Amino acid sequence: MENDYRDSVREYHYSNRRPQHGRKRPGGSKVIPVIIIILLLIIVIIGAILLAKVLSSDDSSANVSSSEMSTSSDGTNAVVSEDASSGEQSVTSSESSVSSGTASSGEIDSRYSVGESDEPWNEWYLKIVSAANPLEEGFDPPLSTITQSYAAYSSMKFDSRAIDALEDMIAAAAEDGVTLTVISSYRTIERQQELFDDKVRRVMLENPSLSREEAENLAATEVTRPGTGEHHTGLAVDFNLAETEFEGTVQDVWLKNNAERFGFVNRYPKNKQDITGIIPEAWHYRFVGAEHAKRMNELNLCLEEYVDYLKAGNR
Ligand SMILES: [Zn+2]
Repeated sequence: MENDYRDSVREYHYSNRRPQHGRKRPGGSKVIPVIIIILLLIIVIIGAILLAKVLSSDDSSANVSSSEMSTSSDGTNAVVSEDASSGEQSVTSSESSVSSGTASSGEIDSRYSVGESDEPWNEWYLKIVSAANPLEEGFDPPLSTITQSYAAYSSMKFDSRAIDALEDMIAAAAEDGVTLTVISSYRTIERQQELFDDKVRRVMLENPSLSREEAENLAATEVTRPGTGEHHTGLAVDFNLAETEFEGTVQDVWLKNNAERFGFVNRYPKNKQDITGIIPEAWHYRFVGAEHAKRMNELNLCLEEYVDYLKAGNR
């Protein structure tokens, strides 16, 4: 250390005493290149770290598209992912110690109840929107903006009649140490049209021999056609990570144990894809009202089955 110092002092004096031969050589001429080299090394290292991060996030988007691919390549063409290709980012979070919350006590909380109706299947809270039940023209639900801290993006909308249930559920999860973030909620038909048109364009690029209609049919195996997705109702949300990896997370476990208390059900369960026409989506929750959510879970019925069950005169 001391020697280095002496060396640099000696060098300083030496360079100062050195006669100038036309070319100007300022003091510390060897120190500056060393500093530049060190700075370059630091920049290269930081660059390498950033590149590694970009590559790993590319991996996760590759996962999304590979799961999209699987819907069409396994031959189950009728089964669609509601949320694939939504272009909306995922939010991940990790909690160290988490309680799965208190299970339902069996009591219906009146704040999340929708009340009696002679024909509940005709009410807003049991409305089915799907390929078999496209949205009617002029559908215009009352909407409110989801509290920013609960949502991944600003100005995300949800049905005004159920937004308190949604926000109370997210707050209750937070009390149990579980972070739920809404990454997708109400979608306009125009937005779904954009997503669908994007998909058709990509299909036609990959298969130039297809007619427009054939390309649309192929696109529809992966992206729901405008007017046929549940997000149009304003009653559906996706939480945190719209990918199969959502399964088994603390959010997944908490929702399975608690969502029905707030009137929400997992809309596209694993064993119901033949009926819903949608691949299992553990992250996609739908408001139906607390009494119906409880009943659907007890009976192990998805919304299509439950509506048929009610229409058949059961209560
Ligand atoms: Zn969804």
